[in-house]
Amino acid sequence: AAEAPQKLWFDGTLVDQGALQATLGTHALHYGSGVFEGIRAYATRDGAAVFRLPEHLERMRKGCELLGMDFDTARATEAVLQTLRANKLGDAYIRPLAWYGDGGFGLDVSGRAHHFMVATAATNLHLNGNRTRVSVSKWRRNPASSLPPLKLCGAYVNSILAKRETKARGFDEAMFVDEDNYVVECTGANLFFVRDGAITAVEHRDALPGITRDTLIRITGADSRPVSLEELLDADEVFACGTAAEVAPIAEIDGRSFDANSPLSREIGAVYAATVRGESSWSGRWLTRV
Ligand code: PMP
Repeated sequence: AAEAPQKLWFDGTLVDQGALQATLGTHALHYGSGVFEGIRAYATRDGAAVFRLPEHLERMRKGCELLGMDFDTARATEAVLQTLRANKLGDAYIRPLAWYGDGGFGLDVSGRAHHFMVATAATNLHLNGNRTRVSVSKWRRNPASSLPPLKLCGAYVNSILAKRETKARGFDEAMFVDEDNYVVECTGANLFFVRDGAITAVEHRDALPGITRDTLIRITGADSRPVSLEELLDADEVFACGTAAEVAPIAEIDGRSFDANSPLSREIGAVYAATVRGESSWSGRWLTRV
C-alpha cells in the first residue's frame, strides 16, 4: 500500500506536501527575504516531544520582527505540534519558514504578503561515528553589523560559500575566524573546546546564539568567552554543536588532529542525547509534548 502523503502546514492549514508550489515571483526566492528555524523532536518514553520549542520560536520571532513580518508564537507552536501529529513522527527534524511572497521585484517589503509553513521530516538516529574534519574558511562570517546573527534565509549564502570552498579542498566542514583570528563558528554549528578538563564555549558577536550551545553551557557549566584560533588549536578536544549536528567531535582542523577518543566530548554528547530524549534531570523544563 502507498504511504499516506506527508502533510505540511501552510498559512493556517495542513495540506498534502506535493499539493503546494511557490510562484516564481516569490520575493524570498529572489532576495532571501525569509526567516527559518531548525528544530528537533525526539521519541521519548512518553511519546514524541519537541526540544526547546519556545526558544526556537522566540529566535524566529526576532527574525520576523526585523524583516517586518507578523509572527504569532502561539499559532506557530500549534502549527509545529499539529504537523508532527499529522505525520505521526517520533524522531523528527522540523523546519518552520516565514517568507515574503509574490508582488513585484522592488525591495520595499512593507505591505507585501508573507507566508508561514512548517515542514517535518523523519530523522534517523545518526551515530556521530564520523569525526568531522574541519578547515578554516577563506570567507569571513557575515558581520553582525551587516546581518544580525539570526536565521535569515539570505544570510545562509555565506555558509554555502564556506561549505563549497571547504569541500572542494577535501574537508567536511568550514570554520569561520575573524580579522583578528578569533573563532566565530562553523557553517551551521557553534564551537566548544576542552583543555585540561575545562570546557569552554566559543563566544563571538557574529555567531548565531545557538540553543544547543546554551543547553550545553547550562548542563556543563562551561565558561563562555572569545577564543583565538591559536587557543583553539591548542585544545585537547574540540566539538561542534547544533540542533542538527547535536554534539559532533572534531577530528582535525587543517591537519592539526585532536584526541581521537574525545572522551569528554563523547560524555557531553551522551548527556545531551539523554536530555533531549527525556532521560536526564534537565529534560523536563525543555521538552514540549507532541
Ligand atoms: N550557527 C549557525 C550558523 C547555525 O545555522 C546553527 C543551527 N541553527 C547553529 C549555529 C546552532 O544553533 P542551534 O543550536 O540553535 O541549532
